[in-house]
Amino acid sequence: MKSINWKRVALYALPLGLLAYASFGVWENLGSLRNRVDSSYALTTRNDEGFRLEMELGTFQSDLIQYVMDEGTISFDDVMLSFDLVWSRTQVLNDGSIYTAPRGQFEDGDLLLDLQKELHALDALLIDLKPGEIKKMNTIIRSVSSYRDRMVSVVNKMIQQRVDESNELRLALQHVVEGLDRMHTEFGLGVFLFVLLLTIETVKARRAEAKLKHREKRVRYLAEHDTLTGLGNRAYFNKSLGRMIDEAKQDEESVQLLLMDLDGFKDVNDSFGHPVGDELLKIVATRLNQCVRDGDELARLGGDEFGIIIGSPASAAQMMSKRIVETLAKPFSIDNKEIRISTSIGVASYPENAKTPETLMRDSDMALYDAKASGRNSYRFYKQSMKDALDKRKGLEVLLREALDKNQLEVHYQPQICLKTGQVLGVEALARWTHPERGFIPPSDFIPVAEHAGLIPQLGEWVFRQSCIDVVEWHNAGHHIRMSVNLSPLQLATANLADEILAILQETSARSEFITLELTETSMMKNTRQTKDTLTRLNKAGIRFAVDDFGTGYSNLGYLLHYPVSYLKIDRSFIMNIEASNEEQVMTRGIINLAHGLGLSVVAEGIETLEQSEILQEMQCQEGQGYFYGKPMSKLKILLYLEKMKSNVTLLSTGSRDVMKSA
Ligand code: C2E
Ligand code: MG
Ligand code: MG
Repeated sequence: MKSINWKRVALYALPLGLLAYASFGVWENLGSLRNRVDSSYALTTRNDEGFRLEMELGTFQSDLIQYVMDEGTISFDDVMLSFDLVWSRTQVLNDGSIYTAPRGQFEDGDLLLDLQKELHALDALLIDLKPGEIKKMNTIIRSVSSYRDRMVSVVNKMIQQRVDESNELRLALQHVVEGLDRMHTEFGLGVFLFVLLLTIETVKARRAEAKLKHREKRVRYLAEHDTLTGLGNRAYFNKSLGRMIDEAKQDEESVQLLLMDLDGFKDVNDSFGHPVGDELLKIVATRLNQCVRDGDELARLGGDEFGIIIGSPASAAQMMSKRIVETLAKPFSIDNKEIRISTSIGVASYPENAKTPETLMRDSDMALYDAKASGRNSYRFYKQSMKDALDKRKGLEVLLREALDKNQLEVHYQPQICLKTGQVLGVEALARWTHPERGFIPPSDFIPVAEHAGLIPQLGEWVFRQSCIDVVEWHNAGHHIRMSVNLSPLQLATANLADEILAILQETSARSEFITLELTETSMMKNTRQTKDTLTRLNKAGIRFAVDDFGTGYSNLGYLLHYPVSYLKIDRSFIMNIEASNEEQVMTRGIINLAHGLGLSVVAEGIETLEQSEILQEMQCQEGQGYFYGKPMSKLKILLYLEKMKSNVTLLSTGSRDVMKSA
C-alpha cells in the first residue's frame, strides 16, 4: 500500500484551512447582517406608521381649527376626511395588518386602543360640529392633543431606536465589510499559497522530468558507448554487426569483421600506470578513427580490444588491417614518454566464413588468436585450419582437466651435467602426460592449453610439489643434486606465488638452496613490481633463477640487471648446429661471455653430441643438458641413472663417448 506523505498533507492543509476559515467567517457575518437588516426594516416600517399617524392627527387638528375658527376656508368634509384618515390608520394599526407592526410594538400600553375608543367618542362630537363652536373644538383638540403627545413621545422613542439600530447596522455592515476585506486577504493568501504550492510542485515535477530525460539519454549513451574513448561499446558493436549482416544479406554483399588486441598493453599499464594506459587507449581510438571510412563501425570491445565492421570485400579488410598494424606500431608520446606497442588483428568475412554475427565473431577471434600466437604485430584471416586447431585445443583441455583430476600426469627428470667433470649437478623437472588412449602428448601441446584454460597454476603447483618430494628423497639417498622447475609466465603473474612455493618447500622439507626456477625471457620482460617482489622474496629464501631458452626472446637485456638471476640457459637452437655454423659459435660465445661478465653460470640446452659438448667446454660453458647426457627420465630411471653416474664421474670427466652412451 502507498504510504501517506504526512508532511505534504500538512503543507496543503494550511492554505485549504485558511480558505475554509475565511469562507466560514464571512458566511457567519453575512447571516447576522441579514437578520439585522430585517429587524431594521421592521423598525422603519413601524416608525413610519407611527410617524404618519402622528402627522395625520396633526393634520386633523389643524383642519379642525381652521374649520371652526376660519369660516369658509376649509369644509366640513375636509375635516371629516382627515379624521377618517386618522380613524382608518388607527384601525389598521390596531388590526396589525400588512406593512404594519403589531399594535403592542408601539410600546405604550394601549395607546392605539385608547385612541380608537377616543376617536369613536370624537366621531359623535364631530358629526354636528359647526364653525365657531370653539368649545366643542377645544374639547376635541385637547383630547386629540393628549394622544398626539403620547404619539410624539412614542415616535421619538422609535426614531431614537431607529438611530440606534442604524448605528448598529452600520457597525454590522462595517463588520461585514471588514470580514469581506479579511476574507479577501485570507482567501487571497490561501489561494496564493495553494497556487504557490502547486507551482512549486509543478516546477519540481518538470525538473524531475527533465532530469529523468537527461538521465535516460545518458543511460542510453552509456549503454552503447565507451566513456573513455567515446567509441561505441560491445553492445553497440553487436547491434551494428547484426544490422550490417542483415543489410549485406539483402544486397548480397559481404561484411568484414576485424577484431584487434593491443600487444603488450598490460605491460604499459604495469610499467607506466593506468592513467598513461588510458591516454594510450584514447590515442589508439583516434588513430583507428583515422583508418576507418564513413559507414564502417568502430568500437572498443573491452580493455585493449577493438573491433571494426566494414561492408566491403576482403581486399579492403586486408588494406585496412595493414594500415592499422602500421599506424599503431608508430610510437606514442604520452607524458614525455615514448611508448611503443603493436597490435594483432583477426579478420573473418560474411558470408564466406560465417553467416551469423556470433559465428563471425568466433571466427575473427580465432584468427586473432592465431595472429597473437604467431608472433603478434600482424593480422590473420580466418582459415578452417584455425578452427581445427581450436577444436583440438578444446578437446585437449577437457582431457587435461580430467588428467589433472585423475593424477594421470608424471614428472620426468633430465640431468644437468658439469661439462668439465661429468658430474650430475642437477635435473630439470619436465611434465609428462601419457593419455590412456591417445598416448604421449608433448608439453609443447598441453602446456599452452593449460595456460589458455587457466590450468597452469594447478599444474605448476603439482609439478613443483612432486619435484620437491622427489629431490628430498634423492637427497636422503645421498644424491645432493639441484632441482630445476619450469615456471610459466602466467604463474609468475599470480599474486601469491611466493607464498605457495615457500609453503610447498616447508611442507616437503625441500631445501631452497637446491631449487632453481626456470623462467623465460618473456616473463622476465614483464617488469612489474609484483614480479620483482616475488623473485626477490624467493631469492632471499635461497631459491635461484635461470633464464630459459636464452637468446630467443627479447633483445632488451636490462632485466638481467633488475632480477636476481643465477643461470642463463642457452637455447637449443644455438647448440643444434654449433659444430658446423660459425655464426652459432659466435652467438654462443657471446652469450657465455655476457653471462660470465655478469657473474652468471651458463647451462647449454640440447647437447646431443660429444662435439657439441667439447666445443661448449672449450668456450668455458660450465653446464650442459641434452640427449647426449640423458633424455628426461621417470623418477625410477633417474635414480638408477644417478647411482650409475656417481660411479662413472671419473670416467665421464675424460669425455668418453662410450661411457655416456651406456649411461
Ligand atoms: P624447456 O624448459 O626448455 O625444456 C627443455 C626441453 O628440451 C624439453 O622438452 C626437453 O625434453 C627438450 N630437450 C632437452 N634436451 C634435448 C635434446 O638434446 N634434443 C632435443 N631435441 N630436445 C631436448 P619438453 O620436455 O618437450 O618440454 C618442452 C617445454 O615445455 C619446456 O622447455 C618447457 O618450456 C615446457 N615445460 C615442460 N614441462 C613443464 C612444466 O612442468 N611447467 C612448465 N611451465 N613448462 C613446462
Ligand atoms: Mg626449462
Ligand atoms: Mg629451454
